[in-house]
Amino acid sequence: MKKILANKSFEINSHDYRFMREAMIEAERAYDEGEIPVGAIVTRGGEIVGRGRNGRKIGRMPFAHAEICALSEAGENLNTWRFDGCELYVTLEPCPMCAGAIVQTRVSRVVYGARDPKAGAAGTLYDILRDPRMPHRCEVVRGIMEAEAAALLRKFFLAKRKTGNADALNARE
Ligand code: ZN
Repeated sequence: MKKILANKSFEINSHDYRFMREAMIEAERAYDEGEIPVGAIVTRGGEIVGRGRNGRKIGRMPFAHAEICALSEAGENLNTWRFDGCELYVTLEPCPMCAGAIVQTRVSRVVYGARDPKAGAAGTLYDILRDPRMPHRCEVVRGIMEAEAAALLRKFFLAKRKTGNADALNARE
């Protein structure tokens, strides 16, 4: 079953909400761990092949974004670096670093929740995933569970502000 969201020119699939809910579970785990709450899932053929959340596995290394973690796990599970036919679900719009990784690994489709006005590279500041000059392009769907993803991020930054943790305010993903 496919349908077109009002005022949006992309198609969403019936499984998009199911997998985005899984990505939200990862974002909530990151929140519980004190990390900026962003979660990601990689699927192939309707199965989850990788999960990731901000800061996972590599501690607070700057490249430990949810997408990189999920792609790394998918690479281990599928024993490949190429993700043709794979879909990536992420609760926040990919940054330029993650968009670069998505293009390099040939992910076929990216579905994201909240837009990122500060660093979004999937249509907001840049459109790396669909740039015709790049060697690979993805189908991009945005806005799936956007309100939930954005609310969790707001809750995180509000809590950090209350506890006076200025470092978290300067970090983004
Ligand atoms: Zn990123």
